[in-house]
Amino acid sequence: AAVIVAIDGPSGTGKSSTSKAVAAQLGLSYLDTGAQYRAITWWMVTNGIDITDPSAIAAVAGKAEIVSGTDPENPTIAVDGTDVGGPIRTQEVTSKVSAVSAVPEVRALITGLQRSIAASAEKGIVVEGRDIGTTVLPDADLKIFLTASPEARAARRSGELKGADVNATREALLKRDAADSSRKTSPLAKADDAVEVDTSELTLQQVIECVVTLVEE
Ligand code: C5P
Repeated sequence: AAVIVAIDGPSGTGKSSTSKAVAAQLGLSYLDTGAQYRAITWWMVTNGIDITDPSAIAAVAGKAEIVSGTDPENPTIAVDGTDVGGPIRTQEVTSKVSAVSAVPEVRALITGLQRSIAASAEKGIVVEGRDIGTTVLPDADLKIFLTASPEARAARRSGELKGADVNATREALLKRDAADSSRKTSPLAKADDAVEVDTSELTLQQVIECVVTLVEE
């Protein structure tokens, strides 16, 4: 039977690198749900939608056609047929994604998309996000919740952003987590039956091995 792995946690815990590597090693599909929320946010920004107005967002949320490529070696994300893999990583989108993803209509649409992608993955899938174990795929075979100290997370993110100020990165990251954790609809949260892994003192390779072992158990 297809194996479903849910990997949740805040940003900078190594979620994406871990999820991609685990999927590749086990021959599973991979879905980056953050990329989907970033893609719909990019669409809102590009179309001049007032992102401080949840009803304006809700009214047009269904207009963006979001398509995710689920090969862990080459994950892709497109909106209305255009690849947006680059544009969804800008600081503008990053600073606005929490507001857009807090809108219940947006979550309902994206959650539906996620469930249908997971259901059609023949061998199984690793799905990474914030609410996968709690809301999107509560029956997942394995749930992982990755954590790391704010220092470790900010250091990793600054490294990825090449030359970004560590303190500014840390503040922006903590602000986004606070928003994601406090929203009413499916906030960032650990499922009761998730295995928590603190990655602060672990190398990426160690985290990958840990998760692969848990899947194989
Ligand atoms: O994982 P990433 O940092 O790219 O996620 C971007 C944003 O998308 C998060 O800060 C959060 O607001 C939103 N998100 C979400 N639910 C998920 C995945 C991401 O609300 N399952």
